[in-house]
Amino acid sequence: MKTSTHRIAIPSILEVGKGNINNVGNLIKKAMFKNVLICFGEGLEELFGDSIRNSLKEANIVISRIETISDISFEKISIKAFEISNDVEALIGVGGGKAIDAVKYMSFLRKLPFVSIPTSTSNDGFSSAGASLLVNGRRMSLPAKTPYGIIVDIDVIKSAPDKFIYSGIGDLVSNITALYDWKFEEESGKVIIDDFATMISKKAVNSFIRTEFNNIKDDLFLKELVDSLILNGISMEIAGNSSPASGSEHLISHALDKFLEVPQLHGIQVGIATYIMAKVQNHRFERISKILKETNFFEHVKTLEMKKKDYKKAIDMAPSIKPNRYTYIHVDENRIHAKKIIDEDEILNYVLI
Ligand SMILES: [Zn+2]
Repeated sequence: MKTSTHRIAIPSILEVGKGNINNVGNLIKKAMFKNVLICFGEGLEELFGDSIRNSLKEANIVISRIETISDISFEKISIKAFEISNDVEALIGVGGGKAIDAVKYMSFLRKLPFVSIPTSTSNDGFSSAGASLLVNGRRMSLPAKTPYGIIVDIDVIKSAPDKFIYSGIGDLVSNITALYDWKFEEESGKVIIDDFATMISKKAVNSFIRTEFNNIKDDLFLKELVDSLILNGISMEIAGNSSPASGSEHLISHALDKFLEVPQLHGIQVGIATYIMAKVQNHRFERISKILKETNFFEHVKTLEMKKKDYKKAIDMAPSIKPNRYTYIHVDENRIHAKKIIDEDEILNYVLI
């Protein structure tokens, strides 16, 4: 029985705005870190190294070491963590996904704070506590740590290829089906949902889908996307698990990751699975299809030539990904229904092959 109020970790630094990449030193100065280690994703030191180095220097923060993260195997990252010199006070991760996952896990192992500086926002990983690393060659989400700081430069996010923005959109709209799954799980007597986590996750996605935009690269639209993905991290921290932002649609995507030789970006796979599951749940699928149409998400997906048969296989596998959960996809007849939707739905017939 839960009788006490929650104690959760919330980032102390939160900066989302234009030009932040040139101001990292100032933005983290208030935390009084004097010595930091920076990990860049591949190719990113060339792009952002000078700006970050200079701004840290101006703020009198010493860089103990700069690393490039290419291999995110659990073993490699653990070894790297214990190579960090003892005078390092914080880790900074700059990248799309890998560098941040790596830094997250290293900071967890070494009990150090870390600052997350995403250069693209293809999913909510830059704000969440779980680290997605390779265990025996397969991506697995390991418990890690909520960032001490999150710094996002809207101009940097904007300069990343469109596919990363689409992936972020897909990952965020999935809150709608995830929350419905979570409610279903509670109604089936399997779990007790967290009302506060539910509210944050719901507000995050609703605020985003109600934002007016002309183009997915509008500043306000991107800021909404980033802010809402950050709220996802917080909602999962409150819940103590990923349920408020990850339901049946995520299980389908995780299944695709398991057997596809080259999976697509997380949020791309999740976005399509969200559309399918919203139809199965018969809940808000018009809203989901509206945002995915208006952003041109579906048109983007069409260029990827994802296969109907892969989605069907993933639907069959999905319950086994998390056998202890009880989402819509864990029910036999819903899987039959989902596969039927893939065959019959007009949009899916257009975007999948
Ligand atoms: Zn996700």
